[in-house]
Amino acid sequence: MFELYLNQPGDLVLREANALPAAKKDEVKLKIIYGGICGSDLKVYKGLISYAAYPLRPGHEVLGRIIEVGENVPYEIGTRVVVFPNTFCGVCEYCLQEKTNICIDKQPIGVSSDGVFAEEVIIESKYIVPIPEEIADEKAILIEPFAVTIHALKKANIRKGNSVAIIGCGTEGLFSVAIAKKLGAKVTIIDINANKWEIAKRLDENVRTIHPKDVKGELFDVVIEAAGVPASIEQSMEIVKPGGCIVAIGITCDPVNYPSLKIVRSEVSIFGSIIYTLKDFTEAIGYLKDPKFDLSPVLSKIVPYTDFHQAFDDAMGGNFAKIALKF
Ligand SMILES: [Zn+2]
Ligand SMILES: [Zn+2]
Repeated sequence: MFELYLNQPGDLVLREANALPAAKKDEVKLKIIYGGICGSDLKVYKGLISYAAYPLRPGHEVLGRIIEVGENVPYEIGTRVVVFPNTFCGVCEYCLQEKTNICIDKQPIGVSSDGVFAEEVIIESKYIVPIPEEIADEKAILIEPFAVTIHALKKANIRKGNSVAIIGCGTEGLFSVAIAKKLGAKVTIIDINANKWEIAKRLDENVRTIHPKDVKGELFDVVIEAAGVPASIEQSMEIVKPGGCIVAIGITCDPVNYPSLKIVRSEVSIFGSIIYTLKDFTEAIGYLKDPKFDLSPVLSKIVPYTDFHQAFDDAMGGNFAKIALKF
């Protein structure tokens, strides 16, 4: 059984691991089909996440097929599933309010514990979500990152005709284009990379694309901040209309100037948004069941997992959207 393994930042290898034991009680054994490379995998690879527990097996976005079940598992062998890759305690104040995404004991797999970039993995069945047959593998691998965007954009309550600016056209920014378009918004994307403009245009030919330096005096009802650098976070607060809102998805540890006067006097709302709950996975599946809802431009390429070095380099290069490994 082969797996990817990160001995320490920058030292990613393919290695042969011991065969897995049998799945016990509430566990399932999955044969992995695809693994999506995420921005957080790149941060773990580069050593930019302080709580990453090296050495570790990276990866959290996977589609797989159940090949073995423990005696308490309610799913059948052969079921295709995606992994819900953030564990939660189920008993804290936040879990009891169904906000498992901010559980005090949340553990992101592939960061603080071993991830799922391997030919086979064992996982508790409460962390898998079955995929309906009509959703192809190439759509299903997008469910986890798409659920992040679904969770975030619900906070903005986007209505038909709203002007929506999306800053940063990584995977979450691109998914935001697709959702905002479906909700009938007028969408402008703000990104420094013209390759990303092209991908956004393939999602919605009417999307407006602009370089951050060329946004002059224009204001938007809703701003989605998905770049996560101080300049873009500061720009999100400059370009939001009075009474409008910002949804903050991007993350930085660097200081950001906060325009208190504008936020208070113009009644600007700022919503932070982190990952998702199981309900967002269900909603993501609902969107993807619609054959007319097309996210395929976001999946830039699929490569054999043995080409992981090239795949990680391409993902870090910034000219691609999602890259998936085929296991
Ligand atoms: Zn991810
Ligand atoms: Zn909890």
